[in-house]
Amino acid sequence: MLVWLRRDMRLRDNPALYHAVATGRPVIPVFLHDPLLSGLGAAATFRFGRALQQFEHALKRAGSGLVLRKGEAVHVLDQLVRETGAKALFWNRNYDPDGIARDTEVKAHFFAQNIEAKSFAGNVLSEPWAISTGGGGHYRVYSPFWRRLSGQPVEAPLPAPERIKAPENWPASDALADWSLDRSMDKAAGIVAQHLLVGEEAAQERLSRFLDKQLPLYAQERDVPARPSTSGLSEPLAYGEISARDIWHQTLLRDGGPPAEKFLKELAWRDFAWHLAFHDPHIFDQPWRTEWQDFDWIEDPEDKNLIAWQQGRTGVPLVDAGMRQLWVTGTMHNRVRMVSASYLTKHLRVHWRLGQSWFADTLIDWDPASNAMGWQWVAGCGPDAAPYFRVFNPETQRQKFDPDEVYTRRWLAECSATPPPTALSFFDAAPSVWNLRAKAAYPSPVVDLAEGRRAALAALARFKMSQGAHG
Ligand code: FAD
Repeated sequence: MLVWLRRDMRLRDNPALYHAVATGRPVIPVFLHDPLLSGLGAAATFRFGRALQQFEHALKRAGSGLVLRKGEAVHVLDQLVRETGAKALFWNRNYDPDGIARDTEVKAHFFAQNIEAKSFAGNVLSEPWAISTGGGGHYRVYSPFWRRLSGQPVEAPLPAPERIKAPENWPASDALADWSLDRSMDKAAGIVAQHLLVGEEAAQERLSRFLDKQLPLYAQERDVPARPSTSGLSEPLAYGEISARDIWHQTLLRDGGPPAEKFLKELAWRDFAWHLAFHDPHIFDQPWRTEWQDFDWIEDPEDKNLIAWQQGRTGVPLVDAGMRQLWVTGTMHNRVRMVSASYLTKHLRVHWRLGQSWFADTLIDWDPASNAMGWQWVAGCGPDAAPYFRVFNPETQRQKFDPDEVYTRRWLAECSATPPPTALSFFDAAPSVWNLRAKAAYPSPVVDLAEGRRAALAALARFKMSQGAHG
């Protein structure tokens, strides 16, 4: 039988793999380079390559292997079923509209051929339809969602299979190297690669270390970007190298008190994002509050302020530090994501979709639902969002969360006579066409902060008036 892997590169708590092995039949794990993979951003595509490489080793250690094929899912899977004589195909569910459409087509195709096509719960604490309000609808506000989620049992993680029965003959597989998944990263690949946390073993070790050492301080320190106090698990979660259910249960086993609750409440935001994405899929590309369609955003991909933001040279230290951290490591601290997203959508009034798409291209931990929700939350048009008039002042945020400038100095070479290697590595990773030099003077602000705030609030006032006029 075939197990079709997508964002579930793990042996432990992998329902499709577990149930396939439990049948006692030979199992062929398969991964497809399909149009959905081709549509991913540079960093996520590159990171997928590392995930596949690592998971193939893990499968081999369990007596199995990994078959790689390229093409439309339904055609390639059909071909593989014919080649292998497989009678069943199992996978874990995805909850994005494109993934659902693809999987529905595959299921219908094999159903018509009498081949068992069975899907299992994906990498969430609770499937989007398993949680509903008293009235039977879906949640739009986080706090009641959390109360419901935490008030019902989360499925315990399934064990990893010890051995996976291999077929007598393996079907042919593409070579991973031929897929060139690093291609779009250009010279950043080697630098970003130094910061990755790849594979199930590394994710489990990270979780253990986090629970031992960082969890007790999580609530106090999670907003301080210079401190290594958050879990860093968003990256392996994005490729399913660890499951959310596993994190949930291991956390509760280690600590049933307030630090665990604080951490699990954050983890549940990821589920909330998928809950919303499933029920309100327009969140991916349209304002969740549809009236925000008419807000006066600047939606020009060539906008010079947008480009300065992307290249970490807005002249606002906390924003630039975050954007450089993103370019070098493929991640950015959550507090800084909020500040840099607020700065882009408010001080610069650039459309949140352009920020969302930059993150989709550069984040190693890119998660379509969390990214869409995060941008819309900051921009003020999302569910349970920060109101638009609450404009973060990036300078005040820096003074509050990076008072000794440890984080900003880590990423801004121009601010020091002897910059640290992290700050310099940004200039090694930046494309030559950006024409950046570590020894240049730090840029002056592209927009005066007070003026940017005033313009943002004026745009909000115009928007409110136009809404009033329409209403
Ligand atoms: P921890 O603090 O250790 O939290 C544990 C886990 O909880 C995280 O790994 C993550 O799965 C979940 N989590 C925590 N905060 C959030 C949140 N606000 N929303 C959703 N889940 C959360 N997260 C992504 O995983 N992928 C994205 O593409 C992404 N894009 C974002 C874009 C914007 C504009 C903003 C403001 C936030 C975005 N986030 C995204 C959420 C958050 O910034 C990251 O999940 C977090 O920084 C990951 O670091 P960590 O694993 O150390 O988090």
